Amino acid sequence: MARIVKKFGGTSVATMERIAHVAGRVKASVDAGDEVVVVVSAMAGTTNQLVAWTREAGALHDAREYDAVVAAGEQITAGLMAIALQNLGVEARSWLGWQLGLHTDDVHGSARILAIDTDKLDARLAQGQVAVVAGFQGLGADARITTLGRGGSDTSAVALAAALGAVRCDIFTDVDGVYTADPRMVPHARKLSQITLEEMLELASGGAKVLQTRAVAMAMRYGVKLQVLTSFEDVPGTMLIEEKGLIEEKGVIEEKGDMEQNVINGIAYSDDEAKITLVAIDDAPGVAATLFGALADAHINVDMIVQTAASAPGKTDITFSLPRSDLARGLEVIGAIGDGITYQEILTAADVCKISVVGVAMRSQPGVAKLMFETLAEKGINIEVISTSEIKISVLIGTAYKELAVRSLHTAFGLDAECGD
Ligand code: ASP
Ligand code: MG
Repeated sequence: MARIVKKFGGTSVATMERIAHVAGRVKASVDAGDEVVVVVSAMAGTTNQLVAWTREAGALHDAREYDAVVAAGEQITAGLMAIALQNLGVEARSWLGWQLGLHTDDVHGSARILAIDTDKLDARLAQGQVAVVAGFQGLGADARITTLGRGGSDTSAVALAAALGAVRCDIFTDVDGVYTADPRMVPHARKLSQITLEEMLELASGGAKVLQTRAVAMAMRYGVKLQVLTSFEDVPGTMLIEEKGLIEEKGVIEEKGDMEQNVINGIAYSDDEAKITLVAIDDAPGVAATLFGALADAHINVDMIVQTAASAPGKTDITFSLPRSDLARGLEVIGAIGDGITYQEILTAADVCKISVVGVAMRSQPGVAKLMFETLAEKGINIEVISTSEIKISVLIGTAYKELAVRSLHTAFGLDAECGD
């Protein structure tokens, strides 16, 4: 008997028909002897509608009430899914965050999970009952409903899998696996049969929407076996594995020819970027600490940073990227530093995007940066900021070049599927 967590995203539960279909799949797993925990998202579009209503009700609304509203979508699908399972003769009940005891901090709108009480679930699972858990929500330290941030039901599912010691966590989504690039943008994108958790983490934080970044980080921390697949078809998805596993299975992968040969396994893009440049800022100890310290204190997540030598002696230019939604606030924070830093001029751009190429093989194979920069240069694309990690290179470029950049890099790194593949 295997204990499995199955998470179904908004498109998988978008209509009553889809819910009935998913219930059928869950039943098959139960009939095969599995102990199943189902985690559901809200029906597709519901959360957006609920968010829009909270904004309409008040631009500067109370975040605790925002959570009371937006958590409602998952409550509906959890109840409907339990009914659909009961209709098929499967014993099931719905669980809300507060009923389970899924405890979070009280950072409303993006709460972090602190602990999950598993006693009640363990007992019900042992009796053969399917637990249908409302994703995305928890019980705050302030005893109020919290939500985990957009896309947060992935994190609910992984956290439950870790807490319950599940053998696997299946994430059913609207694509049938993890692709080398967004298949809607790159028609030649290929589905990967496997990818390392580390690569997935970099792709998710680079903007790939397939999994919430926090869910991947949590799977790494707790060793949760993750699989991404679709509920629409019965086809294999993508297994997320540790690099160790990848090396052990090297023979198999080489045979399949889908991973070992690629230096790059995925390309991600993020639209949600903006750039700030401080021209001719003092080149002295403590300047960067003051600037980025103030931004950090305001909870602004700075991503890429470059510092260049400027023409004037004792001066430098600092450019950095930040979420576009934080641009106005970032400028306010910098303005408020006052005499703490001096600079000649501040420049901003909101029409930039970030492109990241990711692959664990980068650790051992040189030349990735060269190929990336040459490819962009050939297309006349200017690179504004660069940042790297051991397994990722990211560039900030003009938004107008986004598709051209992603497609050209996909081809240059040999990721395009053969015609008719
Ligand atoms: N329904 C929530 C959202 O749309 C949570 C999720 O689906 O993961 O963000
Ligand atoms: Mg999602």
